[in-house]
Amino acid sequence: MNHPVAVVGAGPYGLSTAAHLRARGLPVRVFGEPMASWRANMPAGMLLKSTPAASNIDAPRPGHTLADYCAAIGARPLVSDEDLVPVETFTAYGEWFQQELVPELERVRVVAVEPRGDTFELKLDSGETCVARAVVVATGLSSFTHLPRELTGAAPDGPSPHGPLSHSSQHTDLSVFAGKDLAVVGAGQSALETAVLAAEAGARVRVVARGKGAVDFGDPPWEQPRLRPVSPFGRAWSLYALSYHAQPYRFLPPQARHHLVRRVLGPLGAWWLRERFERSVTVREVRRVVRSGVEGSGPDSRPLLALEAPAGRIAARIGELSADHVIAATGYRVDLAALDFLGHSLRARLGTSRGTPLLRAGFVSSVPGLYFTGLPAAASYGPVMRFVCGTRFASPRLAAHLAAAHG
Ligand SMILES: Cc1cc2nc3c(=O)[nH]c(=O)nc-3n(C[C@H](O)[C@H](O)[C@H](O)COP(=O)(O)OP(=O)(O)OC[C@H]3O[C@@H](n4cnc5c(N)ncnc54)[C@H](O)[C@@H]3O)c2cc1C
Repeated sequence: MNHPVAVVGAGPYGLSTAAHLRARGLPVRVFGEPMASWRANMPAGMLLKSTPAASNIDAPRPGHTLADYCAAIGARPLVSDEDLVPVETFTAYGEWFQQELVPELERVRVVAVEPRGDTFELKLDSGETCVARAVVVATGLSSFTHLPRELTGAAPDGPSPHGPLSHSSQHTDLSVFAGKDLAVVGAGQSALETAVLAAEAGARVRVVARGKGAVDFGDPPWEQPRLRPVSPFGRAWSLYALSYHAQPYRFLPPQARHHLVRRVLGPLGAWWLRERFERSVTVREVRRVVRSGVEGSGPDSRPLLALEAPAGRIAARIGELSADHVIAATGYRVDLAALDFLGHSLRARLGTSRGTPLLRAGFVSSVPGLYFTGLPAAASYGPVMRFVCGTRFASPRLAAHLAAAHG
């Protein structure tokens, strides 16, 4: 069987997987725009929350770390935990990784994947059809943007940067909010950094965060407890286990697996963001956003949020907040139904748990030959799969399994 393996997606996970498959001598076709979500769904000026050591895309041979990239272009090496990684540098690193290790990348989208006996048929947006012996889905976060129901009232036509409410993934240039009143809903790194970048560009920014003390920041590296093991995310036994021993995660009860994916490394700003945040952004703590709507019409319409005050406040329980624009930094939620390029019959055959694929050893789904990596693998292999450093665990294992089963 000479059909190639198809890798769908060219972000850190797709590129890393493809590099490992190529190193095993498997014929591979890789589809997608390299590092597209890092260019199109993240704001200019963003700094990565992950440290340089946790920002390496795993390669089958040495010479392809972020530090190697810096050396190759003659830039200052980014190595210590205190070196911050600009998103522009990381995107360029991913593109360099692609040129070095996955040079045959095809910049087309896969629009359909259908099973054909024990192979798969892929339709590309170029009009071409191809057959693959196995398919690796590495399409990342962008299909899974999450807008909670209580915020949909302010986005009757869907979230849009030009309407009353948008999702944080829809912004690359936050200077468009200069002089405007902006509300950012959320308390994770994306919410807090979006708020800071908009405020520093001249917007008046309020962060709407659930719970008392909901906005919090991590400890700087020099204040982390010395007696705990080092992990890519900081010093903690739990983070160490989740980073380096993700194999048994699949055997935890489903409730625990889904809970840990949501909560571990959950809403917490990076240590270096605290000072900039406290200088430029105000916080409105709420128990919850009750509902949202729009006041006025046409270009003058403004989003309106109904907010429930935190428990114990004597003031009115429900208050309102109006702004020129609301950004929902409400994250991503895996739901296979959103991967519409996977044909209906294929999705119907997939074993799932709360909308996520149930993966076996080697990242294979219940459909032989169909693999998932990156965020959709987090419910099976843990929260490390939400981050670039998870490529170190995922890519060699996936490639080894695929080579053994379909090589
Ligand atoms: C604001 C923000 C900040 C983040 N900061 C960090 C950080 O500091 N450190 C960290 O480790 N992680 C961070 N993350 C998480 C990070 O985005 C993921 O870990 C990483 O991008 C996952 O890589 P991926 O390859 O799975 O997905 P992506 O990077 O999303 O790449 C997916 C690729 O698939 C392509 N694609 C999608 N659909 C198709 C299709 N049908 N056909 C062909 N190609 C397709 C896309 O064009 C894209 O190139 C951040 C996320 C966000 C939103």
